[in-house]
Amino acid sequence: MSLRIALLPGDGIGPDVTYATVEVLKALESKTPELSFEFHEQAVGAAEYLRSGSPLPEEAFEACRAADAVLLGAMGLPDVRWPDGKEMTPQIDLRERLDLYAGLRPIKLYHPDDSPLKGYGSERPIDFVLVRESTEGLFSARLNQADSGGDESRDVMRITRRGAERVCRKAFELARKRRKKCTLVDKANVLPSMVFFRRIFDEVGEEFPDVTREHVYVDAMALFMVRKPDAYDVIVTENMFGDILSDLAAGIVGGMGMAPSGDVGNDCGIFQPSHGTAPDIAGKDIANPVATILSAAMMLDWLGHADPADRIESAVSRVLADPSKRTPDMNGKLGTAEMTAAVIAEL
Ligand code: ATP
Ligand code: MG
Repeated sequence: MSLRIALLPGDGIGPDVTYATVEVLKALESKTPELSFEFHEQAVGAAEYLRSGSPLPEEAFEACRAADAVLLGAMGLPDVRWPDGKEMTPQIDLRERLDLYAGLRPIKLYHPDDSPLKGYGSERPIDFVLVRESTEGLFSARLNQADSGGDESRDVMRITRRGAERVCRKAFELARKRRKKCTLVDKANVLPSMVFFRRIFDEVGEEFPDVTREHVYVDAMALFMVRKPDAYDVIVTENMFGDILSDLAAGIVGGMGMAPSGDVGNDCGIFQPSHGTAPDIAGKDIANPVATILSAAMMLDWLGHADPADRIESAVSRVLADPSKRTPDMNGKLGTAEMTAAVIAEL
């Protein structure tokens, strides 16, 4: 059976890391008789907006909907905005239109030297998954009126029962397959919407008696992620807290170039690195492809191909076991193509 993958390289380093990842997938395909890919490439993002007037043309959107999964680089360029000055957010539009409510961000330390924190590695592993609600929360406010020059502005944190239930259920299901611990990050000591979120988390948690659950305030989590990141298995939180904590979490395992992600709904999934388009280093063969390669492994796992997914992750892990194999963002000397070749050699 052939897997239909919509390929959206996007802007900046998006194409650098996406094509590198396609190389890895093609190498895997050539070694795995039961696996085959059909890539359907689509132009999206700021450059596409400048060309056609839309950062997410209908044809690209339909290709995403028709595909088994989507592999995305990154979208957006500085200074490219809507005529009214508003920021373009095609990736958020995609998430909302495809109802991709769970943002999965696995955080794993592959080599002790890659963390700014001391004492972590095989004895004390950093290995957790952040599950970010991706369709509501404080990000709901993004469609509000832009600054109209008055004396006040407010944004609303929107939490619905449906939105909270489904993301919490996704987190508990994931925890059940892992180390059976699920941590809710909220701000229930201050915000009523977060008291509501917590109540729903506890209700859903009752369906998972085998999973330990706990609540941590978001400010405390910012501290704990630095002081005891090995204490966590699955962490679930609202959209904005998840956005902020994802970058912090990436920072403790080597930075944005190491952090994969998947945005999944009930029957659709988009996989992309957690980083943005990094236009300062685009096209220079220095972008770190690891986050995107690991995102492709997540994609295969989500598609039900756990073995090929494992093969990619193990190959990355074997490459990273050698501290001399790093791209410049991690103080190494390998280019994008060399890093990609190193992963392919380990497949
Ligand atoms: P966005 O708004 O799209 O999230 P951003 O402004 O937060 O983008 P990123 O593009 O995520 O910024 O990256 C910030 C900086 O981190 C980049 O300018 C780049 O120097 C570095 N960086 C990000 N991703 C990578 C990568 N894969 N390889 C090397 N460096 C990277
Ligand atoms: Mg960013």
